[in-house]
Amino acid sequence: MKYQRVELHNHSTESDGEMTAAELMRWAEKEAYGVIALTDHNTCSGHEKAEKTIKEEQLHIDLLKGVEVTTFYGHILALGMEHMVDFTDLDPKAPEKFLRKLRAAGAGVIGLAHPFCIGRPVTAGCRMDLEIHDWNQIDYIEVFNTSGGTEAMAGKIMGNRRALEFWEEKVLEGYHLAAVSGKDIHQKPQKLPVMITYALLEDDAEEDMEDAAKAVLGALMRQKTVVTKGPMLHAWAEQDNLWIEVEHSSEYEKWNEKWKNCNPVLWIRGRHVEKVLPLCFTKCVEKIKLPGILHEEQETDQYGYHTMVLRLYDGTCQYENLLAAGISVRWKSGGKEE
Ligand SMILES: [Zn+2]
Ligand SMILES: [Zn+2]
Repeated sequence: MKYQRVELHNHSTESDGEMTAAELMRWAEKEAYGVIALTDHNTCSGHEKAEKTIKEEQLHIDLLKGVEVTTFYGHILALGMEHMVDFTDLDPKAPEKFLRKLRAAGAGVIGLAHPFCIGRPVTAGCRMDLEIHDWNQIDYIEVFNTSGGTEAMAGKIMGNRRALEFWEEKVLEGYHLAAVSGKDIHQKPQKLPVMITYALLEDDAEEDMEDAAKAVLGALMRQKTVVTKGPMLHAWAEQDNLWIEVEHSSEYEKWNEKWKNCNPVLWIRGRHVEKVLPLCFTKCVEKIKLPGILHEEQETDQYGYHTMVLRLYDGTCQYENLLAAGISVRWKSGGKEE
């Protein structure tokens, strides 16, 4: 499995950011991102500028064009959208028609930004107040938004904990939703040990940078993302068994070294089971078979699938100790993954 480091929620001087689109692209390359989205509030005006910088300066990064559609009832991340649409016709009690309009405008992948952040009157419109009836219209949820400046603030003010729980509830109900973390860059970010999104790509995925953004959109649609402080976690069902792969070779924030002092604990939740398993590793990339666990999850979702969500903690299962999350496994009885 290959992991593509991505940042899907950013602003430039084209809206209320402090970095120009060009500066943002240079920053992303320096920070070793493979794909960076430009999602200014309600405008696509930065896309061309970002593309020009990448081309002229031969930056080894791919641009994902998008918009953060900033409505009074929540912020919608529309990835792939290359021209802005009028949103005055958005009906907060039935937003599906508007979501379809976004798709028609090129938004192949639609996500909810910071859905549980503090709302009115402090930050009117930031909280998700749309009454979504058809969750199949949404492709991903930002379960961490780290624009709060500090890690502690990001946890409290942005409602991240609730967003992660909400994503897990929806996935266990049977909806195909990916989980992502958004830096929501407005200023040049400080170096903080915050959650980062990685897209999981097949081993034979194209190396071509021009298709990198497309591959990331595909990973989002297949729920193949992980949000992590460093260690990678990937899980799947195979021949009646739950398998996980943990990789801790990432040099980001020196995680390859930090890992030595970690006591990794796997937390698994299904519709009616919850399990905590301490893990032991000797290698950088380790595949582990967890027999029997799939059989414990008898309940199925509304589509007839069994689903589990996973988190990786350091030591005890407290939110503050979270290392990685946003991973799910779905399978039909008999152990076959979807
Ligand atoms: Zn926002
Ligand atoms: Zn934003």
